[in-house]
Amino acid sequence: MATLKQMHTTEHILTRVMKDHFGATRNFEMHLGEKKSKCDYDVSKELSEEDIRRIEDLVNAEIEKRHPVESEVIPLSEAEGYDLWKVPEGATEIRIVRIGDFDATPCAGEHVANTAQLGRFKIISYSRKEDGLLRLRFKLLPREAG
Ligand SMILES: [Zn+2]
Repeated sequence: MATLKQMHTTEHILTRVMKDHFGATRNFEMHLGEKKSKCDYDVSKELSEEDIRRIEDLVNAEIEKRHPVESEVIPLSEAEGYDLWKVPEGATEIRIVRIGDFDATPCAGEHVANTAQLGRFKIISYSRKEDGLLRLRFKLLPREAG
């Protein structure tokens, strides 16, 4: 089973992959759990099994780069250009979580210190919700489990 810190860090990587490669603008809703997690993206393309394998490969490639995960707090006024959906209303400062040079996203959650601690990313299933969003369900396997 994964920890929530691991799942949280994985969500950042997955969201960056969905933005860069599948045109998602952001993660609209998520539920992170130790066994499995789910995230919803605004991806209009119908995904094939091949796309799903590609998402897994892209996420795992970043995990394997052993990116350090660091955070810093900056004033909200300097946060232009960041994806602010998780920032509570009324906040004046935000915490930016950086995954190496791969991603920087505001988040107040807890994360691992290095992506080397994440294990292998695996998509369990995917479906289209009634509101049109793409829901991905995923888990982390121990690194040895291939
Ligand atoms: Zn986070």
